[in-house]
Amino acid sequence: KRKRGQDELSTLAQRVDDLDPKASIKNFSELPLSEPTASGLEATHYKTLTDIQSRAISHALKGRDILGAAKTGSGKTLAFLVPVLENLYRKQWTEYDGLGALILSPTRELAVQIFEVLRKVGRYHGFSAGLVIGGKSLREEQERLGRMNILVCTPGRMLQHLDQTAMLETHNFQMLVMDEADRIMDMGFQKTVDAIIDHLPKEHQTMLFSATQTKKVSDLARLSLKDPEYVAVHEAA
Ligand code: ADP
Ligand code: MG
Repeated sequence: KRKRGQDELSTLAQRVDDLDPKASIKNFSELPLSEPTASGLEATHYKTLTDIQSRAISHALKGRDILGAAKTGSGKTLAFLVPVLENLYRKQWTEYDGLGALILSPTRELAVQIFEVLRKVGRYHGFSAGLVIGGKSLREEQERLGRMNILVCTPGRMLQHLDQTAMLETHNFQMLVMDEADRIMDMGFQKTVDAIIDHLPKEHQTMLFSATQTKKVSDLARLSLKDPEYVAVHEAA
């Protein structure tokens, strides 16, 4: 059983290596995805990729940093959730590996929406995922945080935990997602985000998504992204 698992994993890793990130992908079934993600997408009836998903997912599966620009409603959530699930899966992430991915969202409401999509699409994975948006006592959140593999959070509350929660294990950390980075910056979270990044190991993959390209976003991108693949999707004229 173990052997078969290893074979499947190395086949999957090989398919990701072989993937041409510039090739246009139409259906999720054409991507080198794990069985749990493929089943999760099937169960939620996602079949064809949106433009931003088609442009971003292949690069992200291959570990590239992403700077993504696309308006609201273009499907950015799956553009980062699929790579998050896959990149942790291929590393055989377990509860003992601690925090693997952090998804930053400007508001509680958006964080809740992302978390709901993560729960649906990620339902066949064994990862533990948590929502860190305040509203509960810090203590209550702290007790559960040490076991979490994926966190969806608002910047202020997340920084509070990184400063104060000893059980939060970040030394294996893999992926940082900043969703709606323009709004995160507009809301004055610049220093908070910088401080969060300071808490994370230097070597990690970052996906930064924004509806608009402002000066603050390009400053953040310059500071937090390494040789990013720039994927912009504009409305057809
Ligand atoms: P954004 O974050 O860019 O505003 P969302 O990720 O919230 O966009 O997606 C917008 C809507 O499109 C949601 O209702 C979502 O379920 C739907 N959607 C996203 N990706 C797909 C897809 N590949 N196929 C069909 N619907 C999708
Ligand atoms: Mg969104």
